[in-house]
Amino acid sequence: MAKLTDKVAFITGAASGIGRGITKVYAQQGAKLVLVDIADDVLDLASDLKAEGHSSVIAIQADLRNLDDLKKAVTQAKDKFGTIEILVANAGVCKLGKFLEMTAEDRDFHIDVNIKGTWNTIQAVLPEMKKNNKGSIVITSSVTGDLVADPGETAYALSKSALVGLTKSLAVELAPFQIRVNAICPGYVRTPMAESIAQQSNPKEPEAVLTEMAKAIPMQRLAEPEEIGELAAFLGSDESSYMTGTQNIIDGGSTLP
Ligand code: NAD
Repeated sequence: MAKLTDKVAFITGAASGIGRGITKVYAQQGAKLVLVDIADDVLDLASDLKAEGHSSVIAIQADLRNLDDLKKAVTQAKDKFGTIEILVANAGVCKLGKFLEMTAEDRDFHIDVNIKGTWNTIQAVLPEMKKNNKGSIVITSSVTGDLVADPGETAYALSKSALVGLTKSLAVELAPFQIRVNAICPGYVRTPMAESIAQQSNPKEPEAVLTEMAKAIPMQRLAEPEEIGELAAFLGSDESSYMTGTQNIIDGGSTLP
């Protein structure tokens, strides 16, 4: 039996990498999809899903830094599907840089997209869940920041550990409304972001960086986006009905001592 039959899910960062993997699994599990991304690839993704027979999908191009855009996206979602039951706040950015070389713009880019963008997304969607007195919010954080540290990732780590704090505090605040809030903390996942990190660390041999990343993981490989999608489907579904405020590590064993 599909986990998410007819559940309406609002997924940010759907156009690429982990968001695309989550979208694929949510579609397989029968969810109605509201796909949101700053990139126009999200429109093609929705067309592809429709061509494959998944008719309950809309795509909205929006920048998480703009709360009004997100509120409009929520209105579109309600017009199409009536409500929103699951939010996967997944979109994020990562730019490497040594601490003293990071500009204020580089720092603020992470704060604006990863922290404020996630905040805005939840502010736009939450009133709908409160009306329903039910909902599941899944936030893509990372093992970076709270659990592991790599050089050159201070701004990213700052933003991703903030999302763990947000998850826990919001979970307690929303528990009486039967709205659950859980974080996913992936290790390295094979996505354009991981490829870009490899490219930034060694522009001449990015594949060698990805190979080294894989060797350092006990399971000897990066995760595939759909593997994160399976966890996001579990957390979005009623199968995880008593889980809230959790930090779900999915990293092939990387953070084991
Ligand atoms: P990605 O770059 O492949 O995809 C990110 C998506 O977010 C893109 O489609 C992009 O257009 C969208 N996006 C970026 N800024 C946006 C904005 N302002 N408004 C709307 N959409 C925006 O990256 P990914 O690897 O799939 O990462 C997805 C999430 O997973 C991020 O939050 C990232 O921090 C987290 N994460 C990734 C890894 C990894 O190894 N790839 C590990 C841990 C956590």
